[in-house]
Amino acid sequence: MNADTDNDIIKHANSRLDECSMELHKAQLNTVIKCKAAVAWEPGKPLTIQDVDVAPPKVHEVRIKIVATGVCHTDWEYLYESGKGMKSRPFPLVLGHEAAGIVESVGPEVTKFSPGDKVIPLFLPQCGECERCRSPKTNQCRKNWANMQLGVMADGTSRISYKNQQLYQFLGVSSFSQYTVVPDTSLTKIRCDAPLDKVCLLGCGVSTGYGAAVKTAKVEKDSSCAVFGLGAVGLAAVMGCQVAGAKRIIGVDINPDKFEKARVFGATECINPRDHEKAIQEVLVEKTGGGVDYALECVGSPVIMNAALESTAEAWGTCVIAGWTETETMNIMVEKILMGRTLKGTYFGGWKSVEDVPKLVDDYMNKKLKLDEFITHNLTLDQINVAFDLLKSGKSIRTVISL
Ligand code: NAD
Ligand code: ZN
Ligand code: ZN
Repeated sequence: MNADTDNDIIKHANSRLDECSMELHKAQLNTVIKCKAAVAWEPGKPLTIQDVDVAPPKVHEVRIKIVATGVCHTDWEYLYESGKGMKSRPFPLVLGHEAAGIVESVGPEVTKFSPGDKVIPLFLPQCGECERCRSPKTNQCRKNWANMQLGVMADGTSRISYKNQQLYQFLGVSSFSQYTVVPDTSLTKIRCDAPLDKVCLLGCGVSTGYGAAVKTAKVEKDSSCAVFGLGAVGLAAVMGCQVAGAKRIIGVDINPDKFEKARVFGATECINPRDHEKAIQEVLVEKTGGGVDYALECVGSPVIMNAALESTAEAWGTCVIAGWTETETMNIMVEKILMGRTLKGTYFGGWKSVEDVPKLVDDYMNKKLKLDEFITHNLTLDQINVAFDLLKSGKSIRTVISL
């Protein structure tokens, strides 16, 4: 690219930024950006803030300035459960995958993004071309999948480094960094007036839980639902059940501090399994005269997945698993399925990421979806370990980190 073209692009970038009235330092085409990132050097150890280098985007890649990122249970699990509930993945790693930001520069052959665009990076791509993208039955695009699992981009390397040492990228995103580079199929453009410190939550937890109810379970009007686990994913599932018009929405959690929030999102009653001698599924079957129509598991434990399945009604009950575990198995009584129940899993709530996330942003802007109510804490990047502690101790629903 010659200097004139570069200047034109930078001018365009900066005029776009004025349009969006967002702050971003001058687009730095083709240069390495030095910035702060929280680095996970090894599993089980807290993150440390380092000065990292973020390389320019390569072909079909976009470099973005991350403005805000949520801290999701999955970030915690990859750090503290690696090799246990989660498969081992390469370290050192820059975590974070629930974010919103602004395009800083684009690599060759990128046609859908320009510097200054407000965007949400996506841990689940939508390439629009693969067999799965062409099918209305699934959102599970497999573009760059193997590389993403290995923490690298399509060319087999990461764009983030520390003193020339490669830092692996997380699920193709790595939002615990002031800048990151993502594939152009793992990014979606959103409206200019969306507040990035709120809509970042649509990058994972809220979309997942909400979609688990409305898209994967397809909760029906006047139905009965039970939501297991009332973190951000579970509360978003409760909200989905309410938006779908469910008559009875039972929140289940071992931490009763979550119940007040659950009622805000639409729970009609809440149960602490520890208050009952009987198994929670028996309590629910009794309470509902035969079981709920829909059960949504938002904890990530096979024991609770079973309880959720067994709490659904014979003949038509549907259980959706949103909680995450990669190494454990479920031990299902076959008869539960034979009697007409359905068991499903959901990945990112079933949403086709690139096309659906901007619609969810619209729903928030039009007050159909709540987001502000999920945010219990606002912290800065250097307080990232505090955000993990708050999540793990059950004191937070979502902490939003500003970068
Ligand atoms: P979180 O830690 O905020 O919430 C989990 C909740 O489960 C907490 O309120 C906790 O008290 C409750 N809980 C723990 N043990 C319980 C039990 N025995 N019975 C009832 N409740 C119990 O987590 P989150 O960010 O809401 O994420 C929830 C799960 O969803 C995690 O496993 C996460 O990895 C997964 N997740 C999946 C996807 C997906 O695409 N499927 C996306 C995002 C997150
Ligand atoms: Zn997540
Ligand atoms: Zn695809």
